[in-house]
Amino acid sequence: MKIGIIGAMQEEITPLLKRIGKYTEIKYAKNSYFQAEFHGIELVIAYSKIGKVFSTLTASIMIEKFGVEKILFSGVAGGINPNLQIGDLIYATKLTQHDLDITAFGHPFGYVPEGAVFIETSSALNKIADKVAEENGIALGKGVIATGDQFVANPERKNWIEKAFKADALEMEGASVAVVCDSLEIPFFILRAISDSANDTADMDFDAFLEDSAKVSADFIINMLKKLN
Ligand code: SAH
Repeated sequence: MKIGIIGAMQEEITPLLKRIGKYTEIKYAKNSYFQAEFHGIELVIAYSKIGKVFSTLTASIMIEKFGVEKILFSGVAGGINPNLQIGDLIYATKLTQHDLDITAFGHPFGYVPEGAVFIETSSALNKIADKVAEENGIALGKGVIATGDQFVANPERKNWIEKAFKADALEMEGASVAVVCDSLEIPFFILRAISDSANDTADMDFDAFLEDSAKVSADFIINMLKKLN
């Protein structure tokens, strides 16, 4: 079994690499891919860089060049659902691109022809996550995650995204990884720990909580890996 783990930023994969300890670095496409073995699983770990384009590139390379059979995303997000506090975990049941807009032609937000507004994640991987959460007494939220090439630090935009998609959290990479995995039939799991609430203080909260929240997400992924071989 070969599994790819993607974060967007270095801070999101550093805790994983620390826990795994031993890995080799392969440089490819202006990025680094870290290969390791953990609990009998071959891993390929990388941070994509921020946004939909870079995360699309990384997910595609993981599948097409490195041959990963599943992809797990670990990172941080802005919380929309008021039940989500900083540090809380949420996995995506489905994802959408909140900034995809050809509504001028009568299409809904998040839709282009031959695409779909929402892409669902792997229910098998989500079930494993539910089990890990239950066994370890971890509160694990689930819901809709909206992705766009914007850092949202603005209550109006956040409320619009909530209304348009019933989204629970927002970030900048999940839906693009979803498009790649769905197209190539690779089961995928998108986990985020809340770093901010996408409001007026989001930039400061993000800086203050990025490292701690990224670690919460990475620790959960490590627990999941133990159930995946
Ligand atoms: N501080 C960074 C930029 C972070 S962008 C720098 O200066 O380089 C925010 C990252 O965290 C993205 O990878 C995104 O997926 C996630 N994220 C967390 N909170 C977010 C928010 N409020 N809006 C959009 N993305 C958010």
